[in-house]
Amino acid sequence: MTEAIRFFLDGEEVEARPGETIWQVANRRGTEIPHLCYSPAPGYRPDGNCRACMVEVEGERVLAASCIRKPQNGMKVNTASESAKSARKLVFELLVGDQPDRKEAHDPDAKFWQWADKLDVTDSRFPGADAAPEKDFSHPAMAVQLDACIQCNLCVRACREVQVNDVIGMAMRGHAEKIVFDFDDPMGSSTCVACGECVQACPTGALMPATQVDLHTGVFAAAPDRKVDSVCPYCGVGCQLTYNIKDDKILSVTGRDGPSNQNRLCVKGRFGFDYVHHEDRLTVPLIRREGVSKHDVDIDPENPLTHFRRASWEEALEVAAKGLARIRDERGGDALAGFGSAKGSNEEAYLFQKLVRTGFGTNNVDHCTRLCHASSVTALIEGIGSGAVTAPFMAAQDAEVIVVIGANPTENHPVAATFFKNAVERGAKLVVMDPRGQALKRFSTHMLQFKPGRDVAMLNALLNVIVTENLYDQQYVQANTQDFEELKEHVKDYTPERMEEICGISADELRTVARLYARSEASIIFWGMGVSQHTHGTDNVRCLISMALTTGQIGRPGTGLHPLRGQNNVQGASDAGLIPMVFPDYQSVETPKIREFYEDLWGSKLPGKRGLTVVEIMDAIHDGKISGMYIMGENPAMSDPDVGHAREALAKLDHLVVQDIFLTETAKYADVVLPASAWPEKDGTATNTNRQVQMGRKALPLPGEARQDWEIVAQLANRLGLNWTYTHPRDVFAEMTKAMPSLANITWERLEREHSVTYPCDAPDQPGHEIVFGNGFPTETGRGRLVPAAIIPPAEEPDAEYPMVLTTGRQLEHWHTGAMTRRAQVLDDLEPEAVAYMAPADLRRLGLNGGDRMRVATRRGHVELVARADYAVPTGLIFMPFCYAEAAANVLTNPQLDPFGKIPEFKYCAARVEPLREAAQAAE
Ligand code: SF4
Repeated sequence: MTEAIRFFLDGEEVEARPGETIWQVANRRGTEIPHLCYSPAPGYRPDGNCRACMVEVEGERVLAASCIRKPQNGMKVNTASESAKSARKLVFELLVGDQPDRKEAHDPDAKFWQWADKLDVTDSRFPGADAAPEKDFSHPAMAVQLDACIQCNLCVRACREVQVNDVIGMAMRGHAEKIVFDFDDPMGSSTCVACGECVQACPTGALMPATQVDLHTGVFAAAPDRKVDSVCPYCGVGCQLTYNIKDDKILSVTGRDGPSNQNRLCVKGRFGFDYVHHEDRLTVPLIRREGVSKHDVDIDPENPLTHFRRASWEEALEVAAKGLARIRDERGGDALAGFGSAKGSNEEAYLFQKLVRTGFGTNNVDHCTRLCHASSVTALIEGIGSGAVTAPFMAAQDAEVIVVIGANPTENHPVAATFFKNAVERGAKLVVMDPRGQALKRFSTHMLQFKPGRDVAMLNALLNVIVTENLYDQQYVQANTQDFEELKEHVKDYTPERMEEICGISADELRTVARLYARSEASIIFWGMGVSQHTHGTDNVRCLISMALTTGQIGRPGTGLHPLRGQNNVQGASDAGLIPMVFPDYQSVETPKIREFYEDLWGSKLPGKRGLTVVEIMDAIHDGKISGMYIMGENPAMSDPDVGHAREALAKLDHLVVQDIFLTETAKYADVVLPASAWPEKDGTATNTNRQVQMGRKALPLPGEARQDWEIVAQLANRLGLNWTYTHPRDVFAEMTKAMPSLANITWERLEREHSVTYPCDAPDQPGHEIVFGNGFPTETGRGRLVPAAIIPPAEEPDAEYPMVLTTGRQLEHWHTGAMTRRAQVLDDLEPEAVAYMAPADLRRLGLNGGDRMRVATRRGHVELVARADYAVPTGLIFMPFCYAEAAANVLTNPQLDPFGKIPEFKYCAARVEPLREAAQAAE
């Protein structure tokens, strides 16, 4: 262990922790030293270039930059000597001379001006730079005004070293030196991914959120009047952030030092906030007008009164509850179903499933986990007894080998991706496995672009190498696993040489990667929906589990299994029991003892039969078995596979109650629409992909007559005969801690105080366990189960009529079905239209250019959209984001289900592309 350094700071003997600089020791002890080019935020390397932090070191001829200088034993440092103070003041005076006039400062509250004020530097004796102020307002999210730039280099480090996007650099020489985007391009046409890290790092206002600048004059436009700490509402990374608010409107967002983001955000979290203020927000309850067909969904969201009439809350709740109660009483609870939301809070998810189980009397309750990681959860529970991650994504920092398969984190979990890139820069080896190329490919040591849908073949080949080359950890296997011999026998035929032809990866490469993964000190696997959204999704995950268990790459720092969860609260909503087979904490509805426990807790008789899943519910509506639904914050009319079938089902319902913030594609089929709360309008907890339970806080008032989701659920529950008395989400959370052993030692008060606590947690004053299963698994035997997986081809293969493969997913700028992000101005400006990505060679073959309109058709329907040439897409493949309502990708997708996880095969179906010119000619 490195010895602590003892030195003297302003005459007092102090101790520096290993690696600490003089500035850090001083700061820890409450001594303020000015700083501009230094950021104390995690991930920022000190650069020592601005000289604003000079201190005197006794015996040395020149002053030292305290941000970069490390103390030595016995060193005497004086932070407040006259020479240090006057040097610092001179630095500020020189810089102030170059700045825009104080009254016209781009950000009068910038760190630069705060320090200048503290040092009493109001103007300068020195002539300023005479260059004309350079303004670049080409980017919809950020304003660039380099007349305020002090070339401190922080934005360059933010972009290149923290977020590792490599867009910003320093260029030119001497007086002409400046920061540039790519090759001195306008920011808006550069390769910037708009994470905004540079804006957050800039100490002067040279880079600012566009919302705070008058884009005609470049003058500072608005300062927040209050700030509220919360969590990002988009992906499962769960970045902590602060809403900067003015006049009850979000003005900008800054990242906070949360355990999963360390101040970082991506474009959605930082700039995708104004959906809450969008004119389409539902502000009053609506009831369908009599005689308006549910098949007529051509509704202008700005004027829904053509199809719905405005209602009082009293009437809307009464109609909603009566309709549900009538079906329950006439046809039984199983004629009803509910979709809860992974976008709401844990408390809302918990109440929703409780309402369906106790108020409807059915387990027909599900949510979008069924469409993203249901197969992962199924395989994980079967294999290791728990559906959550075994290690947070931060564990990549300790890994020697990182495997990312079927995931595109730079687009879908952008902040997690920054930590993967940091790990690679530190020396970790990255193996990316995906049919499509992606931004992480540039950082990878091995990129396995296997043939779409052939993952099991590839993974079995890796297992074959692990087993046949004795790369498995014999001791670990003996002590911690079961059924190894069966797996060994099973994989022996899947030699890399045989699988090469099937999966498209050479036998040599397969052997190299298997050896790399198995032999490393610490290997970790991350996967996404490219793995799970297949009819063989559960088998894919079984293979990944077998890789980790046979090699003992689990339960230690830098090892583990991590399905990157999609929605901000899909982990929490699943934990809370928004699943048809299980009560909260994944406890089977079929086990009488467990049922008795919840019957006691909830004071209600509970159904003992598994409920139906998302797609099964739609089928059951078509079959006439389900005739009423309550949908809170989900949009199956966009997110379900073969969405035409799902939309017909919604139209067929006798009674549909939809609770949402917009008149979504699903709400258009409703009988009653209840206006609900957006994330920044509510208090509540959410659980991210790392098992971190985090506190979200109400930052804004509700619009119009909209109500809190939890209140609406409770009001419906009481109208259905339940006697709920919750007064605040904290009451619900308190009940959840009784229903869910996983929340032991986590209380609402603790979350308010600490913002985030990881489960499982051993004591109220202890942090939770980030890495689990170092000592066995929560299975019946305490061992991890190795389950062999055979190759099952995708459910629908290309043929002469549909010769290509369609796969779907997300784009960086849009989230899920686009309900929020397409109403966020910056995000919609960046990606405004429906596109499909194809290999340039395929486009050429079809006589298409990027930007041309085309038709994509499958056996289920067709959509028309714009072609985008993308070299990352292999020939024969079409990639479509599913967020565009005008060209809904799920019109095309195959509803075939994985038999175990019941997840549809979104990632593979046969498709055809037609240039629209030809289609038009054919029609003539
Ligand atoms: Fe939000 Fe995810 Fe982006 Fe973080 S990475 S800011 S949680 S969308």
